[in-house]
Amino acid sequence: MNKGKKVLSGLLAGVLMVSMVLTASATDIQGLKKQQQQLEEQQKDAKAEKSSLAAKVNKLNASMKQAQADIEAKQTEIEETEQELLMAKIEENHQYESMKVRIRYMYENGNVNLIQLFMESDSIADFFHKTESISKISEYDRKKLEEYQLTVRAVEEKELTLQSEYEKLQALRESLVKQQAEAEALLAEKSSELASIEANLSELETSIKNAEDAAKKLQEQNEGNKNQTTNNSSGSNSSGNSNSGSGSSSSTQVSKPVVSGNGYFTHPCPGMSYQSSYFGEVRQGIGDDRPHKGHDYAAPKGTPIYAAAAGTVIYARYSSSAGYWVVIDHDNGLVTKYMHMFEMPYVSEGQKVVKGQHIGGVGTTGQSTGNHLHFQVELNGVAVNPDLYM
Ligand SMILES: [Zn+2]
Repeated sequence: MNKGKKVLSGLLAGVLMVSMVLTASATDIQGLKKQQQQLEEQQKDAKAEKSSLAAKVNKLNASMKQAQADIEAKQTEIEETEQELLMAKIEENHQYESMKVRIRYMYENGNVNLIQLFMESDSIADFFHKTESISKISEYDRKKLEEYQLTVRAVEEKELTLQSEYEKLQALRESLVKQQAEAEALLAEKSSELASIEANLSELETSIKNAEDAAKKLQEQNEGNKNQTTNNSSGSNSSGNSNSGSGSSSSTQVSKPVVSGNGYFTHPCPGMSYQSSYFGEVRQGIGDDRPHKGHDYAAPKGTPIYAAAAGTVIYARYSSSAGYWVVIDHDNGLVTKYMHMFEMPYVSEGQKVVKGQHIGGVGTTGQSTGNHLHFQVELNGVAVNPDLYM
């Protein structure tokens, strides 16, 4: 496969992955912020309802105070009227008593029939009726008594009216008490609703802050990883070399060289599934129209890679584009390159290798989209068709 294309597609994949993760968390934050907006709307409504309810409660409280004052005033009025009634009754009684004294006087002066009549009468009215014809009782007494009786009746009527007004006021107060209780219950309900909205809001604000922190951390991590990868590719040389050096020496000693064909080069990946790209191939539409510098051999991960010919390992390391790779110098102007191995090569820099020596396994490290070996041959630094030497 074209190396430039792989680099590009690898980069694209990386960018996509990072942006997908960031987009995912950005979507989360967006969702949370939408929820926050909705809750803030609810909070606004609840606050408005609460203040309108509070105003209603205040108004009812004022009405209650007024009703209470009215009731107290009415009570005073009733008490005064009762006093008035009492006085009227006393006057009436006095008039009646003084009348009786005068009647007794008349009796003592020989008018027996009258006192008998009086004693036999059911009421004053009855007596008057019976004695209407009797002129012995003065017109003055009679008028006076009637006057007092009228006063008593008037005061009694006044008291009745006052009592009825008092009862109406009491009913009004009872209704106000009920309304007040209802308004206060609604107000309490609205207050607790508002409190719950505000608790949710503060929880949501924490969630948003956490999500934003997480997104920020993720971005920092992604940036950090990119830097680390770059550092690793250049920094792992010394440690990687020593590791692979000891590992490869044992592997070279155990496994026998694998050589196929009669060419100067043996096939570097005889276990391949198929050849996925050829030297010189140009693929359009990927932003890199340079011809492919080698052959690509598609093969399962770990399929052995063999040294094409004897030589000296000059590179055995990791690079962000070639992944784990090996470069062998064949001491005649020819150099072979083996890219995208799945792990550290089994040989180390400076090591001599024989033709067909197992130097690594197929992988997809670096800028690669699938398990394959990119095998490249260079003559005096210029890529040539590997087929020329196989
Ligand atoms: Zn390739």
